[in-house]
Amino acid sequence: MPQSYNRKECRRGFPRARFSVVFARRRTSKRTGMNLRQQIATSVLSATKYRELMSMMRANRPNDDLDLVRKAYEFSVKHHEGQLRASGEPYVVHPLETALVLAEMKMDPVAVAAGLLHDSVEDTSVTTVDIRKEFGEQVAHIVEGVTKIGKIDFASQEERQAENLRKMVLAMVDDIRVVLIKLADRLHNMRTLEHLSPERQQKIARETLEIYAPIAHRLGMGKVRGELEDLSFRYTDPTGYEDVRQLVESRRKQGEQFLAHVQDVLRDKLKEAGISARVESRIKRFFSIHNKLVKQRITVDQVYDLFAMRVITQSVQDCYAVFGIIHNLWRPVPGRIKDFIAMPRPNFYQSLHTSVIAENGIPFEVQIRTEEMHKMAEEGIAAHWKYKDGPISAKDEQRLAWLRQVVEWQRDVPDPNEFLSSLKIDLYPEEVYTFTPKGKVIVLPRDATPIDFAFAVHTDVGNTCVGARVNGRMVPIRHKLHSGDIVEVISQAGHKPSRDWLSFAKSTRARQKIRHWLNVHQRERAIEIGRKLIDKEARKYRIALKDIREEDLQRVASNYGLGRPDDLLADIGYGKYSAKQVLGRVLPAGITPLEGEEPKQSVTSVIRRVFGGKSDAIIVKGHGDLMVYRARCCNPIRGEAIVGYVTRGKGVAVHATKCSNVVNLMYEPERRIDVEWAGGAGEAAAAYPVRLQMLCDDRFGMLKQITTVIGDAHANIRDMSTRAVSGEATVEVLLDISDLEHLELITAGLRKIPGLHEVQRMKKV
Ligand code: MN
Repeated sequence: MPQSYNRKECRRGFPRARFSVVFARRRTSKRTGMNLRQQIATSVLSATKYRELMSMMRANRPNDDLDLVRKAYEFSVKHHEGQLRASGEPYVVHPLETALVLAEMKMDPVAVAAGLLHDSVEDTSVTTVDIRKEFGEQVAHIVEGVTKIGKIDFASQEERQAENLRKMVLAMVDDIRVVLIKLADRLHNMRTLEHLSPERQQKIARETLEIYAPIAHRLGMGKVRGELEDLSFRYTDPTGYEDVRQLVESRRKQGEQFLAHVQDVLRDKLKEAGISARVESRIKRFFSIHNKLVKQRITVDQVYDLFAMRVITQSVQDCYAVFGIIHNLWRPVPGRIKDFIAMPRPNFYQSLHTSVIAENGIPFEVQIRTEEMHKMAEEGIAAHWKYKDGPISAKDEQRLAWLRQVVEWQRDVPDPNEFLSSLKIDLYPEEVYTFTPKGKVIVLPRDATPIDFAFAVHTDVGNTCVGARVNGRMVPIRHKLHSGDIVEVISQAGHKPSRDWLSFAKSTRARQKIRHWLNVHQRERAIEIGRKLIDKEARKYRIALKDIREEDLQRVASNYGLGRPDDLLADIGYGKYSAKQVLGRVLPAGITPLEGEEPKQSVTSVIRRVFGGKSDAIIVKGHGDLMVYRARCCNPIRGEAIVGYVTRGKGVAVHATKCSNVVNLMYEPERRIDVEWAGGAGEAAAAYPVRLQMLCDDRFGMLKQITTVIGDAHANIRDMSTRAVSGEATVEVLLDISDLEHLELITAGLRKIPGLHEVQRMKKV
C-alpha cells in the first residue's frame, strides 16, 4: 500500500465496499449473482488499482487537480458494476488499467478520466449526453471519439486497405488524446488476450498489428509499438514467435553477460578519453528480429543487431569521438556505418550507426547520439515517422513539416496539458475517409460530397444519384463528407447528372464522369436539334428529312471533314453550320424553295420548343430585337444578377451570373453580352417558377408551418411533394415567385421553422 495514502482518500475510494458490507450480508447480489466474498474481492481489486493510478498521477503531475479522475473512477465503478471480463475479473479493472497506461505516458487528468470512461458509452446504459453533463465538453468529446473508432470493424476490410484505415483513424479524430486512449485500451486488451477464444485472438491480434502498432509507430511511441507488436506476433504467428523466442532465450544469458562486458570495456575507454556519456544496451524485440530474419533470409547468428548498444553523449563532437574509440576497440562490419547526424533521416532522426564484432566474434550494433537527439528519437511524435517504411514522398514531406511545427510547439509550451489540447491532429488534411454501409473504405478529397462518393462506387450509381444518407441521416447532394462517415447513396433510375454538379464535385473521377456524360448527352441533344432544323428547312422544298438520302448527307459531311451524318447534324445543332447552308449542298442543283409560302413554324419556334425558352422582361443592351430566354440550367429570377450569352440561331440565353455553366466553359467569352431586367423592380408581374428543397424532421405540423410561411408571402404553390425516411423528410415545392426579394423572404421564413434543417433552391424547376 503506498505511503501517500491517507484517511480521507480511503473513505473516497471505498464507499461502495463499505456499504456492500453493511447491506449485502448473507445474500448474493441480485444484479451480479456474486456472493459477498466475491463482491468484496472486486471492490478491493479495483480500489487497489485506483490507488496505484492516483499515486502515479500525483508523482507525474504533482500540480494537477485530480478530482475529475476520482469522479470518473466512481462513475466507471457504478456503471460497469456486475460486468465481468473474459478473464473473470470485474470489468472496471480494464478502464483502470487503460488509465494507468495513460498516467504512465504522463497524460493530463482529462485524458485519464476519459480513459476511465472510454467503454462506458459502448457497454453500459450511459450516453454521451450523461458524460457531457457530468464531466464537461472535453471529456465527452474524447469519449465520443474513442467510441467512434471502436465501432469500425477493421477485420472486414481488405488487406490492401490497411494503410487507408490507419490514415483514417488518424484523420477522423481531432484530438490526439483519442488515439492515445485507443492505444492504451488496445495495449491492455492485448495483455489479457489469452482469455479470449482463438478466433477473437486472431482477429484482435491481426488488427493490432495492421492498424494500431503502425499508428503508434507513426506517432513515435516506440515503446507502445514494440509491446503491441510482440503481443500480436505471439498470436498471429505462434510458430514464428516460438522460434524467435527460443533463439533469443538460448542466447539471452550469454548475451546479457556479453553486453555487460562490452559496456564495461567502453566505459573505461570513455573515462580515459575524458568523455562523459551514458551507455545502454538491450536485446532487440522479438517481432523486429523476426522481420529481419524473414526479410533478409538470414539466420539468427547473422543478425548484427540482435544485441544493441547505445551511447548518449553531451555534444556532437563527442559523438564522433566515441565513434572513433569504438572502431579502435572493435572491428567494424563493412557497409554498416551510417552517419545520420551529418545526413539526418527525412524524419529528423539523428544518430551515428555502426556494427562491430567483439573479440569473441559476436557482432553488435551501436547507436551514438546526443541527449537531445535521443529525446527526439524516443519521445517526439516525429521520432519514428516512416522509419524503415520506405522512401518518403513529397506529400510526406509536407506532413513532416507539420510535425516539425508540432515538435517546436511542444518545446514552446511548458505545460503538456495545454500542448495536448492545442494539438489537433491533421496529418492528412487533403483527404477524407468514408465508408460504404458494408464497410469498404472510400478515400475522397477534402470537401467531397455524396456525388463524389457515388461515382467512386460506380458510374451508374453516380449518374443516378439523387441524395444520400450519411450516418443514417438524409443529406443533400452538396453535403460535405467527413472522415468516418458511413454513406448510403440514394439513386433513382432514370435520374441524370446535371452540369450544376461540376460546381461541387471534388474528385477527379466524378468530374470526369460528369463531363463525359454531359458531352455525350449534349451531343445527342445537338443532333436532335440539327435534325429538326434540317427538317424545317427541307419543308420549304416540300421534302422531309427522311426523303434525303443517307449517302448525300454522308457526302456533305465528308466535304466538311466530318466522319458521319450525325456529326453534321450535331454541328448544325451547335450552330456551327446553318441548316440552309447544309441543305443547299445536299439537294441537287436546280431545286428552289417555294415562293411566298413560309412554313407555319419558324426556326425560332422550333428552338423555343426544344429549349423551353420563353422571352421575358429582359433587355439585351444595345440589341432590342434579339430573342431572349432564361437558361433552364439556373432559371434566373427578377432581381438576380444576370448575364447573357449569344447562341447561334437560338437567341440570347440569360443565366444567373453565379450559374456554374457560366463558369464552366460552355460558352466562348466573346459571346458574352450584357443584359438587365426590364423596368423597375416589381414592375412586371411575372411569376417565375422556383423549386425549393427542404430537409426537415418528419413531425406533425411541419407541412402546415411550411405552407403557412409560403401563404403569408402570397406565393402560389404549383406543386409539392414529400418523402420521409426514418424520422427525416425531404419536402419539395414548386412556387411562383415574383423576384429575388420575394424568394429571400420565403426562404428566411422557412429557415426559422424549428426542425427544418436546410432549404435550398433547385437549379432546375
Ligand atoms: Mn476498452
